[in-house]
Amino acid sequence: ASLPDNVAELAKQVRAKHGEREFLVLNDERVTYEGWFRAVSTLADHFVREGVRPGDRVAIAMRNLPEWPVVLFAATVCGAIAVPLNAWWTGEELGYALEQSGSTVLICDDERFERVTGGSPELAGRLKIIVSRSPRPGIVSLESIIGEVAGYGRLPDLPLPDVAMKPDDPLTIFYTSGTTGRPKGALGTHRNMLSGLVAMDFIGQRGALRRGEPISDLTPSVTLMTIPLFHVTGCAALLMSAFACGGKVVLMHKWNTIEAMGLIERERITSAGGVPTIAWQLIDSPERSRFDLSSLNYVPYGGAPAAPDLPFLIERELSAVPYNGWGMTETSGTITGHSAEDYMNRPDSCGPPLPVDDLRVVNEAGEPLPVGEIGELCVQGPQIVMGYWQNPQATEATFGDGWMRTGDLATLDEEGFCTIVGRSKDVIIRGGENIYAVEVENALFSHPAVTDAAVVALPHDRLGEEPGAMCLIAEGHSVSEDELKLWLRERLAAFKIPVVIRFHHEPLPRNPNGKVMKNEVRALLLSDAMQD
Ligand code: ATP
Ligand code: MG
Repeated sequence: ASLPDNVAELAKQVRAKHGEREFLVLNDERVTYEGWFRAVSTLADHFVREGVRPGDRVAIAMRNLPEWPVVLFAATVCGAIAVPLNAWWTGEELGYALEQSGSTVLICDDERFERVTGGSPELAGRLKIIVSRSPRPGIVSLESIIGEVAGYGRLPDLPLPDVAMKPDDPLTIFYTSGTTGRPKGALGTHRNMLSGLVAMDFIGQRGALRRGEPISDLTPSVTLMTIPLFHVTGCAALLMSAFACGGKVVLMHKWNTIEAMGLIERERITSAGGVPTIAWQLIDSPERSRFDLSSLNYVPYGGAPAAPDLPFLIERELSAVPYNGWGMTETSGTITGHSAEDYMNRPDSCGPPLPVDDLRVVNEAGEPLPVGEIGELCVQGPQIVMGYWQNPQATEATFGDGWMRTGDLATLDEEGFCTIVGRSKDVIIRGGENIYAVEVENALFSHPAVTDAAVVALPHDRLGEEPGAMCLIAEGHSVSEDELKLWLRERLAAFKIPVVIRFHHEPLPRNPNGKVMKNEVRALLLSDAMQD
């Protein structure tokens, strides 16, 4: 078969190849590729009859439900632009993104319906809303169009809408995580999404060939989907599993370590990961021995810095292969990645770029730097999105010169392996000396009692900034501030030692995709410092 260059072709290929295989599982709901395809074509038919036109924005606001990939494809095979919204957003935040994207249709679950209509009744009045799993008087329910999940396979076999689609037509608006400011809408195309899938598949097949396995014997993966599908990495992981091997994707309503281990045992999950925090929770769980996790052979993660001892613990404690990948919403998912020996030999690195992408590191003037020097990471390749939706200023600043500026600080080695040093905004400048928060965090992580750590800049009259740290201590361990400082002194230059190290008694404030909310940590440290 030829490689798909738009999502309609992808959907048809995947169905033809894997039709009767199981695709999506949530609790006891199970959907085959055939069922998913029929639900897609039925909903797409409804959209077309309701006047959804190419280029219209169709928003999705729901948790990881089996309906999610149905809605994504139904909207996009009509030529509409799908706008996945963060399910954790408040009514105000959902309202902002609905307005900003100019969405005319919203498909949501019950909780999101309440938030949107409660938060912005006027906006809700202007949208065509379809609610899933909760019939309400006067509101169209998704089930009235495509029925219950269990019946997808019995829906009529309709053709996909007859819409011309070109690879560079817009496909999605995924919002960034908002770690450094208001989320920005990254406008991605068919090519952006599909080139990543093809490149990753290529790597998988090369791996199989290297191990001496024939490509046709690639066992379909069983993936535990812990990443929200509204993040481009979650969505790409789902499509990758489907595209590469007709794999099964097991969804969770909400992350829970015990439940996850139960699912790994019950569904014989082969791949579970997401963000590093999730890998840590599996490793640290005292309940782990109660479960049979022997099917797990792959723990992929990315999205946030991973401590260098994590891959070794995954190998030792979970008997699985660790994989670290780097990417951004603006790069439609993974750009670099590596696993097994490559990763174990360079545990700080997030790997080389996919064969279709190029990386370089530049100084503040935008000039390329030699191997090993720290600078801003820039990316070129078919996965880079067109720009930010209706934000020409930010688009020019980030995508202006043909190399996308990532805002991440990194180094590249002789072989092109990339190491993320921090974010350009996550550098603490203490009296003119640069301190990369990640380096200090990794030194804290290396202490056996520390299970989580965040280092932030605290204001200082004369030095400008100085580092402060917040740590979470593992159950059953204890360590004092002075002991930790001593530990750091053996590992870091004196100017990098945090002036205060505070202990947090609950998980550090992270956003749902595992990134520490540094502003909150800073606020906690400052309020704490004032109490002393
Ligand atoms: P915003 O752009 O709105 O501030 P964000 O950058 O956190 O939010 P995402 O696009 O979800 O939004 O995340 C991309 C960022 O995540 C990267 O720029 C990088 O800082 C971080 N990241 C991703 N993968 C890795 C990794 N493997 N190691 C370290 N950091 C990573
Ligand atoms: Mg970003």
